[in-house]
Amino acid sequence: MSKKLLLLPGDGIGTEIMAEVEKLIAFLNESRKAGFSYETGLVGGAAYDEHGIAISEQDMEKAQSADAVIFGAVGGPQWDNVPYDKRPEAGLLRLRKDLGLFANLRPAICYEALADASALKREIVEGLDILIVRELTGGVYFGEPKQIIELGDNENGKNQKRAVDTQVYETYEIDRIARVAYDMAMTRSKKLHSADKKNVMISGVLWDEVVREVAVDYSEVEFNHILADNAAMQLVRNPKQFDVIVTDNLFGDVLSDTAAMLTGSLGMLPSASLGAPDEKTGKRKAMYEPVHGSAPDIAGLGIANPIAMIASFAMALRYSFNMIELADEVEGAIAGVLADGLRSGDIMQQGCKKVSTEQMGDAIIAKLV
Ligand code: NAD
Repeated sequence: MSKKLLLLPGDGIGTEIMAEVEKLIAFLNESRKAGFSYETGLVGGAAYDEHGIAISEQDMEKAQSADAVIFGAVGGPQWDNVPYDKRPEAGLLRLRKDLGLFANLRPAICYEALADASALKREIVEGLDILIVRELTGGVYFGEPKQIIELGDNENGKNQKRAVDTQVYETYEIDRIARVAYDMAMTRSKKLHSADKKNVMISGVLWDEVVREVAVDYSEVEFNHILADNAAMQLVRNPKQFDVIVTDNLFGDVLSDTAAMLTGSLGMLPSASLGAPDEKTGKRKAMYEPVHGSAPDIAGLGIANPIAMIASFAMALRYSFNMIELADEVEGAIAGVLADGLRSGDIMQQGCKKVSTEQMGDAIIAKLV
């Protein structure tokens, strides 16, 4: 099985945390004969400085032919004034669009050792392990028309405008994200919640209809409908009632950030974005990236937390390469170093040992030996 990766470190701490993934790949190739090969490329500000664009055609080709793209982070104040279509984030959006990455997987795992760092009480978050499956390429962020219309002055001479966003979903878009969510549920505790606003939105009515239709192919999965506003409330009231939640682009944006904060720090959160399975090979295009940005405030200091990046790589092991045991091992190693009291600055707690990016990466690898 081909295991060709494209590593796109990007900007700021992206290069520092990606270096830890490179070490891990070298270790896995050596100790487990894991058989990964990789190329590297430029994205974001780094690509703009080199090529005058947020990702070059050559690197897009590499992304298209890779089995998985591992992405660091992009952006920084030095690129704040570059033309809009060449800004660092344009590289990320192009990758998502051209690779057709419609399914965003955001796990929220509360590591035992970090349960006290959550804004919620330990007993509410301890042992939390949920997965939000967010539709990423449709819905109100992309629907047309999307415009501001001039309406002229009202009777008091005050200028009026009308802003329009369009929430639009077609059956196939709901069907394919629902299948990803049911597939995920099948590999976990076989419990799925679908969150929408079918009580007030007609797109929610279709969403619910299609998600229920797909259920026929997954009779083992327990299906639950929940209104998106209630889901937000329940996530902070009793998050452990959930396992997999599937939802649209807008609600997914909000609910996944809410779930993220249950777990403590931004430096801990991985994500995966998946495309449709290839008709011939069945393989999905995929990109794995930490949720956080390029953290310009700490870039170059060697103190960034590499865990979200390493956990994103573990998601690649799980979802692109079906190396489930190895993914479990890497995630176990992360839990292990935290239990040993090692902490990067962002998750530092009293009585723990503060370590650098490199020391954290080394400690995780040492747990795998
Ligand atoms: P950020 O996520 O980069 O940083 C927010 C705060 O969290 C900072 O204080 C930072 O030091 C800290 N932080 C983030 N990741 C950390 C880690 N791994 N270890 C330790 N501390 C960490 O968000 P921001 O400051 O709003 O944005 C900075 C730049 O990143 C901007 O240019 C923004 O556009 C970009 N950005 C990129 C992405 C992406 O590449 N996917 C996502 C969000 C923001």
